[in-house]
Amino acid sequence: MVWGMLLKTGGVESEQLKNLIELLTPIVLTSNPDMYTWDYDPSGTFLVNSARRHIDSYTLSDRGYFLWRLLLNRIPIRSILVDRGVDLESILCPICQAGQEDVSHFFFQCDVGRQIWKSVEL
Ligand SMILES: [Zn+2]
Repeated sequence: MVWGMLLKTGGVESEQLKNLIELLTPIVLTSNPDMYTWDYDPSGTFLVNSARRHIDSYTLSDRGYFLWRLLLNRIPIRSILVDRGVDLESILCPICQAGQEDVSHFFFQCDVGRQIWKSVEL
């Protein structure tokens, strides 16, 4: 079918053809060979370093990474380790021996631990 005839007939196909022509009109084809381009480096060339920078821009900071692990119970606190099947002689806090080393003790109840976390300023 001739494109001009389709445009004149109206209907859905005619409208789709008009939309397609609008999309294609600004595209200029050249005789250069096709090639892949990498948008995350000004040169347009893929570089591992530019990929690393791009990935790093979406990753958590050290603080965010630690808090994410804390929320998932993925920090090596004795009560968590025991829950995961690690065989330990004791689950008491190795610093003060005054309570079970769990998240609450680690951050809020252990006097020494609290001082450490204050100095770290999470
Ligand atoms: Zn303690």
